[in-house]
Amino acid sequence: MNSSKPERVVVIGGGFSGVLAAVNLARIGRPPPQITVINAQRPTGRGAAYSTRRMEHLLNVAARNMSVFPDLPDHFVNWLRTRAEFDLVPEAELRERFIPRMIYGDYLRSLMLHWLPEAEFINGDACDIEPGGVVLLADGRRIEAGRIVLATGNEAPADLPGTEELHAHPAWVGDPWLAWHDRLPPDTGSILLLGTGLTTVDAIITLRALGWLGRIHAVSRHGWLPHAHFRGIDYPDFPPPGVDLAELGLESLVALMEQHCERLRELGANPAIIVDKMRPHTQRIWRNFTVQERLEFARRHAARWNILRHRIAPDIHAQLASAQLMGQLQVHAANINRVEAAGSQVRVLLDGGAQLTADLVINATGPQTRFSSTRSVLLQNLIRRGLIMPDDMDMGVRVDSDHTVITPDGARSDVLLALGPLLRGSLWETIAVPELRGQAMRVAQTLLDQTPEAATEPAAVMMEYMI
Ligand SMILES: Cc1cc2nc3c(=O)[nH]c(=O)nc-3n(C[C@H](O)[C@H](O)[C@H](O)COP(=O)(O)OP(=O)(O)OC[C@H]3O[C@@H](n4cnc5c(N)ncnc54)[C@H](O)[C@@H]3O)c2cc1C
Repeated sequence: MNSSKPERVVVIGGGFSGVLAAVNLARIGRPPPQITVINAQRPTGRGAAYSTRRMEHLLNVAARNMSVFPDLPDHFVNWLRTRAEFDLVPEAELRERFIPRMIYGDYLRSLMLHWLPEAEFINGDACDIEPGGVVLLADGRRIEAGRIVLATGNEAPADLPGTEELHAHPAWVGDPWLAWHDRLPPDTGSILLLGTGLTTVDAIITLRALGWLGRIHAVSRHGWLPHAHFRGIDYPDFPPPGVDLAELGLESLVALMEQHCERLRELGANPAIIVDKMRPHTQRIWRNFTVQERLEFARRHAARWNILRHRIAPDIHAQLASAQLMGQLQVHAANINRVEAAGSQVRVLLDGGAQLTADLVINATGPQTRFSSTRSVLLQNLIRRGLIMPDDMDMGVRVDSDHTVITPDGARSDVLLALGPLLRGSLWETIAVPELRGQAMRVAQTLLDQTPEAATEPAAVMMEYMI
């Protein structure tokens, strides 16, 4: 790194990943560097997931596993004790609760205000980085940086065939995370959700909370809604003793998992226990897979993996089941071929000649994942400048194991690091807090030239950091 550069760390993206990387810099830096956080669209700290204002949107991970700090596992549960509404909740119950995401956003904001009183927060859209490390904003501002952290998060869903022509159509919602609640048809009308994942679940729960009584359709290739969390049994047989899951390769790994899922079914237990037991190993497994195996996994197993892995609060699941039972919600399994205007409605053409027409159609097909087609002007410019390159899966940015970006000539960037959903192709599991908190710590350690061990502090010292 050029020694005349300022030591300022500029974080682009102020969701969970960017803010926690900055918080950890302030927490473990001796002394911490100067920090700038550039964020657009939403209040800094909350990001797409926690900027919701709707109390019915719950975390899909229990409170006990939502601490932002890997070294302080009870931090979130303890923070919840600062709020009056949890005063009377017994500890054991609080730990298992699925807390409203809006409250989690408050937690992130409180950490940000506590740890980053000296940081500079810029509300703006970063659109390019000049050689020498100057970040350009869309409004012409220029921010000098020593090191830059890319934490730009999830992108809005990709367009579907035909939707480029629908951007101004009143019945089309291209970005499910922007407000659409003021565009509801009357109760005699219908809403079609494209996708059956967590965003669709959010939408259904909100429609019910609003008391909307119309017809809801949801369509995806498999038609699978997420499963509910459950209380598992102790199952010490997986992974089998002496077996390193990361060394098996895809075919043997799938065979082993299927064998144990079957055994769990015979015991009357939920086979998703195997997916949970894989969790500590998934990133190493993914790294050891060949590119061919990764592609094969994405094609053949990812959909099933995702519904078992990204489970929802039992209460939320019960609401979906009730909506289906009462006939308000109908789920369809089909490929979407084309989306087109049909007067004031939108029509969706499905495989096999079927079609669905609705008064409001919401694209909840999940974030766009083909990295080379990114709609982010910043990321397009960085690819064009040769500052970053897509990973082998074309799902995100190529990085080294310490989060340093790898440039197209194979060198480690002396300026750029990346974390969060941008690392999907490199790590696979890189979306939820239990993974992101570790990444945010590792990024801070890399920036501070600390080894992972060196930053671990005695518990007594860490206590003073708690708010
Ligand atoms: C609806 C939803 C619910 C979720 N629920 C949970 C949950 O319950 N539990 C869990 O563990 N995980 C959940 N997740 C996963 C979630 O992705 C992570 O928990 C985490 O919020 C990701 O944070 P991030 O900072 O990486 O990305 P984001 O939250 O997407 O934040 C990125 C930020 O960067 C900004 N940005 C992007 N590009 C630029 C630019 N060029 N210039 C300036 N700013 C820019 C964006 O505007 C955004 O504010 C959920 C995700 C979603 C979408």
